[in-house]
Amino acid sequence: MKYRDTIYFLPLPKKYQSMREITVRSDKTKSILRKHPWVFSGALATDIANFKDGELVSLQDQKENFLGIGHFQHGTIAVRMLTHNKIKIDKEFYFDKFKNALALRKQIGLFSDNNSICRLIHGEGDGLPGLIIDHYNQVLVVQCHSVGMYNSLEEIAFALRDLFGEDVRAIYSKNTGTLPSHIESENKYLFGKCDVPHLAMENGINYSIDWINGQKTGFFIDQRESRALLGKYAKGQKVLNTFCYSGGFSLSALKKGASEVHSLDSSEKAIVLTEENSKLNKFKGKHESIVDNAVKFLNDLPTTYDIIVLDPPAFAKHRKKRHAAVQGYKRLNANAIRQIKPGGIIFTFSCSQVVEKELFNHTVISAAIEAGREVRILEQLHQPADHPISAFHPEGEYLKGLVIQVN
Ligand code: SAH
Repeated sequence: MKYRDTIYFLPLPKKYQSMREITVRSDKTKSILRKHPWVFSGALATDIANFKDGELVSLQDQKENFLGIGHFQHGTIAVRMLTHNKIKIDKEFYFDKFKNALALRKQIGLFSDNNSICRLIHGEGDGLPGLIIDHYNQVLVVQCHSVGMYNSLEEIAFALRDLFGEDVRAIYSKNTGTLPSHIESENKYLFGKCDVPHLAMENGINYSIDWINGQKTGFFIDQRESRALLGKYAKGQKVLNTFCYSGGFSLSALKKGASEVHSLDSSEKAIVLTEENSKLNKFKGKHESIVDNAVKFLNDLPTTYDIIVLDPPAFAKHRKKRHAAVQGYKRLNANAIRQIKPGGIIFTFSCSQVVEKELFNHTVISAAIEAGREVRILEQLHQPADHPISAFHPEGEYLKGLVIQVN
């Protein structure tokens, strides 16, 4: 008898007993058995009309074999899987996931004297679909992308407090715009309180973080490694950092001796943050901030830059927008390639999940052909290890980039 069959006959935990069951069509169980974390509505044989958004459900196949437990939500993705085993989804469940996630981040040095910023939980990549938790120097910012996670915030907050103990000053829940519009959600402290902006450090650079008024949870943590890499190329160089947000790339270049850095963003708030962060660190090189549309700026770009960073927001959130997005990336890259100084370096990125790595590389190559210059690929970049991708969920890969040299 297999282990799975053995536990099948054990008395079920109370919480599991009260869970409603959903049956999955026999031709659709394969991907669940392969541990893909999403179950699409078309895979369900049960009438789900009276199921509630956020409800914990138990899945079974048409022969009543147990498949797993997940959060139900009306929509294309009907169930986000939490486990394929018969276990209780409670505070201990979250505690174990958080403990494993924290151990990995500690192992790679993200809780150290020169780094106090990292992503603690990256949704499916950490086995918790719909949940994001970012860490900023003893403050945890939680963002729910599913109603099930939103409903579990109390257990999540208790588990985080148990795990971090004295090492957490505040836990803030930020859910504006991340849940279906009919769900009433609020942004609030789940534990403690901490004034914003709050000081935290990435790779030895100080940042002022504002999770209340800032974009996302307050900082773009996923570019940590690429910022550090930019530092290696930056000594004595004149750098243009477009789509700069709070200036991460700019400060990394200045720290490593860039002679001059121009930071550009269309958001005035972002530029205020960049200026604040620049003052905070007092690096030697010249720094100037520009509020402007980067697409327009790049159309008419001076030919004086040695390094250009292109890190736009996701141009395509859906497959339907992919073609237009590719055209957008191509135009940005072609303009930068055409105008950069001979021997210049471009750090170019896409965070659109629907524009895959190969397509992005191809787009940059097309831009190089259009610009008519010699281009070499020096480095291929991707999201860092605190944004892991489950091997069973390739859709979790979203950030890709290239470092190219133009002659
Ligand atoms: N590189 C940044 C993160 C970029 S996020 C970092 O390291 O932190 C994308 C940024 O692009 C946001 O700050 C947003 O305000 C800005 N943005 C969006 N559209 C823009 C446009 N057309 N021109 C300039 N900036 C834009």
